[in-house]
Amino acid sequence: MTDLLHHFHFQHSALRGELVQLSGSYTALLGTHDYPDIVKRQMGQALAAVALMTSTLKLFGSLILEVKGNGPLSLLMVECNDAGDMRGIAHYDDSLNTTNDITWGDLVGDGHCILTIDPNEGERYQGIVSLSGQSLSEVLTHYFAQSEQLPTRFWLFANEISAAGLLLQVLPGHDHEEKESEDWSRVVTLADTLVASELLGLEANTVLYRLYHDEQVLLLGQHELRFKCSCTRQRSANALRAIDAEELQDIANENGGFIDVNCQFCRNHYRFDAIDLAALHQPIDSSSSSLQ
Ligand SMILES: [Zn+2]
Repeated sequence: MTDLLHHFHFQHSALRGELVQLSGSYTALLGTHDYPDIVKRQMGQALAAVALMTSTLKLFGSLILEVKGNGPLSLLMVECNDAGDMRGIAHYDDSLNTTNDITWGDLVGDGHCILTIDPNEGERYQGIVSLSGQSLSEVLTHYFAQSEQLPTRFWLFANEISAAGLLLQVLPGHDHEEKESEDWSRVVTLADTLVASELLGLEANTVLYRLYHDEQVLLLGQHELRFKCSCTRQRSANALRAIDAEELQDIANENGGFIDVNCQFCRNHYRFDAIDLAALHQPIDSSSSSLQ
């Protein structure tokens, strides 16, 4: 199954939806780390969520979703950009390697969910909500309610090989209308009947037909998604350039004459030897050729 995000609209109501199904991108991401199954499933749900939200934002840039708490899953961070490139990372306690069943609350503990919009041009925007609720989808629903955005609901599912999500949202300008409120309750009640095996295993069209055959759903197009990290040698060089030249040489000397910059997300590493390091603090025009 290709990894796709489908946009749809309810023809007789001012409501819209997004449906995402991930397999290749999700397993490629999981292949970079040896996560316990319980962490994989949370990563899958978070990836599905960030893809759904990126699509609703009509953003040129990236959306970053972070869950940070004091539980054994201390960090879950996923990112998706407007081109459909996704990446993610989780930090967790070793106790999760032998844990099969744990509630969301015990997994993440107390903390926050942070959403960062990082546009290609302009200022970053950050929103934050506490980690209350029984699942990531409840946390995100609270986030949208708290920030007085449009009524929005999420349904997120993942197993160890695939992840999927559904988002429903009232269209802008219709969020206080009586008809939309009735339509909203009806489509949400129907979506609440959705089970993991349907959203993870059936074609998107079949899922939407099963849920909404009485609603006249119009598919508006689809969007491909993939695992692709945004790290580059140039970005690693920029990070090293912020460190004092002498300190860099000391680190390199202790490490056999070079520095390896490792990307946490994709495990790529970028090696900088003594000549590369010396060039970092030269004026850009004379150093650029050695950094490309
Ligand atoms: Zn990377």
